[in-house]
Amino acid sequence: MARQARAESRIIGLVPTMGALHEGHASLIARAKRECSPLIASIFVNPKQFGPDEDFAKYPRTFESDSEKLRQAGVDTLFAPEAAEIYPKDFSTYVHVEGLSERLEGRSRPGHFRGVTTVVMKLLQIVQPHRAYFGRKDAQQARLITQMARDLNLDSEIVVCPIVREPDRLALSSRNVYLNPEQRKAATILYRALEAAKKELEAGGRDALHLQTSLRRKLDSEPLAAVDYAEVVDAETFEPVVRVSRACYVLLAVFIGKTRLIDNLYLEPKAPESDEFMFHL
Ligand code: AMP
Repeated sequence: MARQARAESRIIGLVPTMGALHEGHASLIARAKRECSPLIASIFVNPKQFGPDEDFAKYPRTFESDSEKLRQAGVDTLFAPEAAEIYPKDFSTYVHVEGLSERLEGRSRPGHFRGVTTVVMKLLQIVQPHRAYFGRKDAQQARLITQMARDLNLDSEIVVCPIVREPDRLALSSRNVYLNPEQRKAATILYRALEAAKKELEAGGRDALHLQTSLRRKLDSEPLAAVDYAEVVDAETFEPVVRVSRACYVLLAVFIGKTRLIDNLYLEPKAPESDEFMFHL
């Protein structure tokens, strides 16, 4: 199908997912639908991106309702391979983005990004899309995939889409179903901490250490929250910054009970060299 669509100069779109679809996925699909035809979505719970103590076995799987949602959203093809199709017995080739993969999420989840980049590389090779859509909810993942596409001369444009949130501003995630009502309420602390950081930045605060200290204090005020990391990093390198003077992410990873949630605030200068920022939360 890809070869024929390419020959007909059509824009092939791909939205990779692990299923358990929610409005975050739906936003990627809606954008891809506007820009591409045909549109392919994939559902694959990728075993290689889960650590041995992580939730691969209990990750929510809702295939029937997912495929119905995708059909209604106008997805032309659903690609939902079996693990053995993607990783046959003798599978032995991996894609690893050096440096970026080791920091933050990579440090907390060893091997995670190697699994992500390998499966995304395979999906891009199989589907051959002109455009592939990812969410900024997983900011480091999106950055890594963009880097991989550039480094390996892939013929797919990586499109990064904004974070979709619940009415109380918790970022949508397939893992939110793990939260009991008390934890679900506590989980809003991630957004509230990011919003406080945004206020500090809007008031002219540029000292990254000070921002991090405020973030920690805010997160620690929620008894059910255990912080994995709360950092201000350069949006390109994901290295910590001392002062906020260019495009940055404020990144959070926080355990609420056993559930690990991530969220972020992206800020970019309003103009080159400007000290005024646009905020994406
Ligand atoms: P997942 O199924 O969790 O692997 O996510 C599939 C894609 O949806 C990834 O590119 C995610 O970054 C994106 N995504 C997940 N949650 C959200 C959200 N709340 N807003 C925007 N994109 C999201």
